[in-house]
This record gives sequence, structure tokens and C-alpha cells, in this order.
Amino acid sequence: MKGMMMQQSLLISDILNYAADAHGDSEIISVRTEGDLHRQTYRETAARVAQLAHALKAKGIETGDRVATLAWNGYRHFELYYGVSGIGAVVHTINPRLSPEQLIYIVNHASDKMLFTDVTFVPLLEAVKDHLPQGLTYVVMTDRAHMPENTLGALCYEELLQGQPEHIDWPQMDENTAAALCYTSGTTGNPKGALYSHRSTVLHALFVTLVLGAGYPPASKILPVVPQFHVNAWGLPYAAPLMGHSLVMPGGALDGPSLFKLMDSEKVFSAWGVPTVWQGLMTEIKAQRRKPEGFSEVVVGGSAAPRSMIEGFEKLSVDVVHAWGMTEMSPIGTHGKMPEWVKSKSFDEQIDKKSLQGRRMFGVDLKINDEDGNRLPHDGAAAGELFVRGNGIISGYYNNEEANKSAFDAEGWFGTGDIASIDAQGFLNIQDRAKDLVKSGGEWISSIDLENTAISHPDIASCAVIAIAHPKWDERPVLVAVPAGEARPSLEELHAHMAEHFAKWQLPDDLVWVEALPLTATGKVSKLTLRKQFEDYTLP
Ligand code: ADP
Repeated sequence: MKGMMMQQSLLISDILNYAADAHGDSEIISVRTEGDLHRQTYRETAARVAQLAHALKAKGIETGDRVATLAWNGYRHFELYYGVSGIGAVVHTINPRLSPEQLIYIVNHASDKMLFTDVTFVPLLEAVKDHLPQGLTYVVMTDRAHMPENTLGALCYEELLQGQPEHIDWPQMDENTAAALCYTSGTTGNPKGALYSHRSTVLHALFVTLVLGAGYPPASKILPVVPQFHVNAWGLPYAAPLMGHSLVMPGGALDGPSLFKLMDSEKVFSAWGVPTVWQGLMTEIKAQRRKPEGFSEVVVGGSAAPRSMIEGFEKLSVDVVHAWGMTEMSPIGTHGKMPEWVKSKSFDEQIDKKSLQGRRMFGVDLKINDEDGNRLPHDGAAAGELFVRGNGIISGYYNNEEANKSAFDAEGWFGTGDIASIDAQGFLNIQDRAKDLVKSGGEWISSIDLENTAISHPDIASCAVIAIAHPKWDERPVLVAVPAGEARPSLEELHAHMAEHFAKWQLPDDLVWVEALPLTATGKVSKLTLRKQFEDYTLP
């Protein structure tokens, strides 16, 4: 017997309609490329998104067409999320930190019809335009007064909207219609596209609000440092309006002092981003000897949050929520909002728990398999490859048969490539990416564990562990570190610092000082590049 309830598609346009109706005065506050701080309510935003949708249709954009963005976090980028998806087209967010070859590859692979760009990226596009699809329409996201001279024949965003009606009856459509496209930065091979649907996006936003926003005071301000071009800023542009919270958009100024100033003046409650960004903010907090006013929560993900960073924030009464996810997962899979029983534990025990990647979000199933595909117990000890299943997880990469051959297991679960254990209380412990583990004498050493301990040394600003080939042990770990100041502690001193946490054979065989570590397009340390840099290196 079937239930007798209405069936209405879960559509992205409904999020905006709802926010305008129920939370119309909450704001999007944006640092603009024009140089000022811009404020706009969700009510005003809905009117502008309607104008944008009309303009897109006037330009011939139809259901399924891909419309690309190359932009910082800001209200116009937010408008594109809703305007493009709302009419049934697909918003394709491009990471401007990709190499020119990768950018050319994905714009062609996605067959984008229009490309909206911030002023910042116009020169980048001019340099590659001959390799991009002919007939691509460019729009610069600014007003006439700030339009740069360009060879793209670009239109002006504000002129595009001008005169268009401020209301639209959003089309009803199948909730499985594609809404957004995001390519993973691809540590190997070409980038691969995750194609989100209206249904997956709305459900992911709902799941996120259930856990991450549940305790926020009404009309809080949330700052996504994580870019809108990196998995839709972890879904915040959809989740925040649902909860009625305001969004503070930092534009391109992501250094510690700029973030501190913005967070302080806007009294940002929660800020979301990758660990490298928080290192910059922490340095500024130390310099100012105070945290930004109102700063109460930091959501850290994208790579493992070092224990010392978690401790640093917690000592300032900033609740650290350590989250794990992937582009292929919309992206959030697990989050470190703590259950009540953890809150009564000692400070150190709480930090222990926060160093793990948290528990699964509703709508995400987790399993760990051994190399033969057998399920391993969730006992906190057994570690294997982590597989996931759920409404926010890709069922295949966009137009990529080759990648799809190996992405899923026999039961149809998606293989994350992460090696993890899960404890009896459901806490996930990401030990490493499979390809970053160091295999020494048949035993695995977690590079994340070594890095986490090494970085708590006061003379190390950032570091990474890579595997170096060894004639006897197969591979041995080497620590590559950026110094915090003048001091360069020796390998022996480092061993003494780490000895308590590791067996002797697990400690790095060498310590190499470098000026800086190579970063990926999403701001994580690029082990791939680092391994290449160390191709000719030999162990002492
Ligand atoms: P890319 O690395 O290409 O930018 P993603 O942003 O999708 O792609 O990265 C997903 C991967 O990042 C995960 O598979 C995992 O290895 C790593 N990761 C994400 N969050 C965490 C975390 N909290 N701790 C450890 N690793 C993480």
C-alpha cells in the first residue's frame, strides 16, 4: 500500500523562496572586488536572482546547459547558484587555482555555454581563451564603472540584470535534474566531474542544517572561507538561507589579518575552511592577543585538523568541529559536533575526540573493507578502505566511463580512497589517503599521524610526510618542514619530541627544511608535487 501524500520536487529555487519569505531580512555581506563591503538581504537577493534568471533565458540558456563561474565568494556568485539552477541549467563552478591546462580541459569537457568571471580572473581567461569553446559568452561580475578593458568581448553583469522583472515563477521540474557541476582537483590524471542534482543538493543542505547549524543562535553570521568553487562552499550557500542565518563572504582576501578584521567587525559566529587558512588566522589572533569578537565555532575540514590547532582554538573557547568529506559527497560525510557525554570529559579527552573526523551525518552510510572486499568491524582498531553510500553521493562521474569503472565496489558503494577506522561510538578516524600511507617493512605508517605530532613542535610552521623508496624496507617516511622562525631543530630533537607517540621504526628517517610546501588548488598540501620534488632525493 502506498502513502497518500503529495509529491513535490525538492528544488533549489524553493530554498531561496523560503529564505525570502521567512528570513527576508537576513543578509549576504560581501567583500567585493570593487573594494567595498556590500550588504544585501535574502529578500533583495531573491529579486535579483529572478532578474538574473530572466537574463539567462534571454541569452538562450536552456535546461541542461552548463554555465560556468570563475569567482570568489560573494553575493553575485550566490545569485548565480540560484539563478542558473533555478531555470534548470547547471552551474559549473571552476577553481581559479587550477593550472591553465586543467582549466582548458574542464571548460571543454563541460562544454560551458556562458562563463561568469570576477574582474580578478579576466587576465587568466584572456591567456587561455583561444583554447576554450568558440562562442562561449563571457560576463564580468561587476558594474559598468568597474568593467576592465578586455579581449573577451565580455558583457557586464549589472547591465545584464538591469530592467529584467524582479519576479519569476520558477519552473517545476524533476528533482533529479542536474543543478551543479564541480570537478575534483584531481591528484592524478584529469579532473573528474561530480554532477549534483536538485534533490541531492536540497537533501544535503537539510542534513547539514540538522547537525551543523542546530545550536546556532537565530540569525547568526556564518563565514565560508571555503570557496564557492570548492564543492559549493561545503553546501553553506544552501544551508545558511534554510536556517535563516546570514552569510559573510570574504571575496579574495583570505589572509589572517583580512579574515580577522572582517570576522571582528561583523561578529561572525562560525567560520568554515581548510586547516591552512586557520593557521593564518591563528597567527593574527596571537599577534592581537584576542580572538575576533563573537567568534564561537570553527568548522575545519578538507584535510586533517592538527591536534595543536584544535587545542589552540578550544583554549580561546572556539568550538572546533572537525569535518570530513569529498567533492563526490556534496561534500560533507562526517562532522565533529560532540555528543553530551564527551562534554563532561577532561579537556585532553575532548581534544582526543575532536581530533577524529566525527560521526556520520544522517543520509551517509559508512563501511570499511579489507583488501579482499570483506567488511571490517567498527571497533576503533580495524582499518581499511572507507566506502560510502547516500543521497548526496555521486552515482558516477560526469561523462567519464574510464573513472567509473573503478569508483564503486560490487555492492555499488563509492570508494573514497581513504584508509580509516570507525569506533563503537561511530567516530571516524581517517588514517591516511591510501596513496599517502608509508609502507615500511610490510607495516603501514600513517603520514597524517606523523604530521600531526611534528606540527606541535614550536619551531615547525607546517609540514608533510612523504614515503621515500628504501632498498630494505620498501619505503621510509621523510618529514619535509617549513620553519616557524630562525630555529632549525635537528632530526634527533624532533625524534625526542615525537617519541612518546610512536614506535621507533615509525619515526621519520630524515627531516628536510624547505621555504614552503606546494599546495593543491583547494589549499591542501600537494603530496603529489612534493613526491615529484623529492624524486632524486636519497635517504641519508
Ligand atoms: P581534492 O583533494 O581533490 O580537493 P576533495 O576536496 O574532495 O578533493 O578531498 C577529499 C579528500 O580530502 C578526502 O578523501 C580525504 O582524503 C581528505 N579529507 C577531507 N577532510 C578530511 C579530514 N577532516 N581529515 C583528513 N582528511 C580529510
